[in-house]
Amino acid sequence: MIASINPVDNTLITSFEPATPTAIEAALVRAAAAFARHRETPLAERAAKLARAAEILETESDRYGRLLTLEMGKPIAAARAEVAKCALACRYYAEHGAALLADEIIPTSARRSLVRYQPLGVVLAVMPWNFPFWQVFRFAAPSLMAGNTGILKHASNVPQSALAIEEILRRAGFDGDEFQTLLITSSQVESLLVDDRIAAATLTGSEGAGRSVGSIAGREIKKVVLELGGSDPFVIMPSADIDTAAQVAAKARCVNNGQSCIAAKRFIVHRDVAGEFTTKFVAAMRALRVGDPMDESTDVGPLATPQILEEVAAFVDDATALGAKALCGGRRVDGPGNYYPPTVLVDIPSAAKIVTEEVFGPVAALFVAKNKEDAVRIANATPFGLGAAAWTRDEEEQRFFADRIEAGQVFINAMVASDPRVPFGGIRRSGFGRELGPHGIREFVNAKTIWVA
Ligand code: NAP
Repeated sequence: MIASINPVDNTLITSFEPATPTAIEAALVRAAAAFARHRETPLAERAAKLARAAEILETESDRYGRLLTLEMGKPIAAARAEVAKCALACRYYAEHGAALLADEIIPTSARRSLVRYQPLGVVLAVMPWNFPFWQVFRFAAPSLMAGNTGILKHASNVPQSALAIEEILRRAGFDGDEFQTLLITSSQVESLLVDDRIAAATLTGSEGAGRSVGSIAGREIKKVVLELGGSDPFVIMPSADIDTAAQVAAKARCVNNGQSCIAAKRFIVHRDVAGEFTTKFVAAMRALRVGDPMDESTDVGPLATPQILEEVAAFVDDATALGAKALCGGRRVDGPGNYYPPTVLVDIPSAAKIVTEEVFGPVAALFVAKNKEDAVRIANATPFGLGAAAWTRDEEEQRFFADRIEAGQVFINAMVASDPRVPFGGIRRSGFGRELGPHGIREFVNAKTIWVA
């Protein structure tokens, strides 16, 4: 079902019928024709449209933020901040896109040799509900700037956000065919992916969705970027500022009600500071206010769907049944809505699912390390490789963690966050390809070598 359902009480707000094959065909025809036009537009014109999109996002962050909170339950302040962050991505590519796409002269024996970056065509974006605006804009801004057109298949629980994004880009000056939202189910994705008019695809979401889209794209020999799950480590060493680390740890675990791919999920603390960090971390987790996400003072709102609530509760129940202890939280909040409280688990046996799988909710798994080598061993003992944070004031240790942790990004003395200026992505089962920064705009382009003898 494609429907907005308020996670505060699971009431239906509105629902939509999936697009018919005829509507999908019409969208493909329009997207392909729009590509032929859009690729010829001057870069300055594309940049001006992105700058206008940024203005709309900034001035109307409250209106659009409310929509995100209503559809998926993130606290309203975070929702407004997400909308405003999309403006940063639009501005970054509006300002730097032309330089990033400029011809790259490479001296050779030729009279002239260079690389020219040209757009690929219509790119299909399959996107998740957890950051309904940010996930889409971080793909759309560089891709439109590079001259591609886009078709968005958003998650089935955020259809109004999906339509709002199309509306914003249209108001910014992209004609309605350069970026289209198609309200379709995941079972309709394959028919689009195999269509010759789709040149490439990007998917942000779970491993299962990634495997499916990645394998179809492989069969069709189409470029694909996969941004998948993570189980990010957060390492705390004795030289760290423990007070700050504990505060940031709670925020890093509970960001977006715990439903972020780059939320810190496994906390690995050196045994010399394990007692102090654990006490302060548990206090910080307990202090977070759980409640109505429209309330400005709420830190943690409901999980997006009843199914996610079931999954999170099952992870905790599995760990505690095997002997883990919950130092706070540990059982769902009574009453309506998909609420689960911030939870810290310790003494977790290695057989518990939480050790190796991703938990998409405010549940922290805490481990104690003997030394820095042991901390890295635990950090890397995961099939994922998205982000990682290490807290230490020792410069040699900072270099050690930055070098040794296997992840797409390592943050020292800070929580992992995406930023339009730097590339973002994962390795191993967290996916491949990069978004944002200079690398992001070069994913969906043909790096064409031109050799003039
Ligand atoms: P999901 O269930 O995989 O859904 C993501 C998108 O893929 C939705 O649009 C969904 O459509 C679609 N989809 C699902 N199965 C599909 C299939 N077999 N074929 C084609 N499309 C399919 O993931 P989610 O629960 O929304 O998002 C949570 C996951 O995303 C977590 O694992 C999280 O870590 C990951 N994530 C990663 C990043 C990153 O940058 N690495 C960022 C955010 C989230 P329907 O809604 O219609 O099923």
